[in-house]
Amino acid sequence: MAKTICLLPGDGIGPEILAQGRLVLEAVGRKFGLDFRFTDGLIGGAAIAATGKALPRESLELAQNSDAIYFGAVGDPRFDANPPDKRPERGILEIRKALGLFANLRPSLLWPELASACLLRADTAQKGIDLLIVRELTGDIYFGQPRGIAEENGLRLAFNTMRYDESEIRRIARLGFELAQKRKRRLCSVDKSNVLECSRLWRTVVAEVARDYPDIALSNMYVDNAAMQLVRDPSQFDVLLTSNLFGDILSDEAAAITGSLGMQPSASLGTTGPGLFEPIHGSAPDIAGTDKANPLGTILSGAMLLEQGLGLSEAARAVEEAVRATLAAGFRTPDILGTGGPGLLPVGCREMGAEVLKRI
Ligand code: NAD
Repeated sequence: MAKTICLLPGDGIGPEILAQGRLVLEAVGRKFGLDFRFTDGLIGGAAIAATGKALPRESLELAQNSDAIYFGAVGDPRFDANPPDKRPERGILEIRKALGLFANLRPSLLWPELASACLLRADTAQKGIDLLIVRELTGDIYFGQPRGIAEENGLRLAFNTMRYDESEIRRIARLGFELAQKRKRRLCSVDKSNVLECSRLWRTVVAEVARDYPDIALSNMYVDNAAMQLVRDPSQFDVLLTSNLFGDILSDEAAAITGSLGMQPSASLGTTGPGLFEPIHGSAPDIAGTDKANPLGTILSGAMLLEQGLGLSEAARAVEEAVRATLAAGFRTPDILGTGGPGLLPVGCREMGAEVLKRI
């Protein structure tokens, strides 16, 4: 049966990396006899320029009517001075909310082939990094009301609201425990319950959910400590369960220590409907149009799309293996080249995509 994949390239390097991701999915489709149909929509700055809206209704409809959404990145400095509801980033926040994509899965893996690009000390890196951040995606301070900018006693003031209800915490916690059951059965819940009420409720509800998963070892950690432990000894972590804000920050950190933001995929899932698959980085305006972007995070997001979005595990493995073989052959975009070395072959975005394609 045909599967429809909605492409939302967005801004900056988004179109460059997603073009490579699409080619890889097409190749996998041919290899496994799968019928993929692609639709293309505008989002972010590209959509604002064309329609005035960061998420036009047509794009949302394309996404809603698809089996999976494949997303590049949004963000364009031309719109940086716009009010929040007219900024490109609004597009991704709106689509997550509209599709109920409450769970963001961000695996961080230190590929043995990239050990030299790891930012940590060799003895720390040697212990390996293989963790999964399970981040709540539709609540917290990014969506809480009231929010705004005001004036009080002649002073400018700004405010946001951190807010969670127990059902939001319970559903992401359940997913976290279920995912831990498929991994090493350890879950560390991250909060700031020593100072934040939201975190106090978070810790209480996570403990309640844990009673249904006696096979999982639960620990709790304050977010500041978690940020430190991630660089001190990331091998201690299996699944990290976080709220929206804390997960946003910790997952960039977890990505960077493994070598590059450009390597990291993610999946955003709801209870029903299509999932959204995207690299965790942004639109990287500093390198847009230079063919320097690493497309592997996007290509690996394609593997997550195949596995978690379409239930095609064998096809997903083929993509991961092709990426592994490409890295083993020495191909490196600038972000993972490090100081270079014998056997390493510097390539751009297009050539990296082409090398993966050859190995599908
Ligand atoms: P960024 O992730 O775009 O870039 C951070 C740094 O990492 C830059 O130096 C960039 O060149 C590099 N980088 C990122 N992706 C790379 C890749 N694939 N290959 C090689 N290098 C890569 O973050 P930023 O600079 O803070 O933000 C730029 C814009 O992206 C902003 O408008 C921001 O709001 C937006 N943003 C969007 C998303 C999203 O679409 N999901 C996520 C984060 C940031």
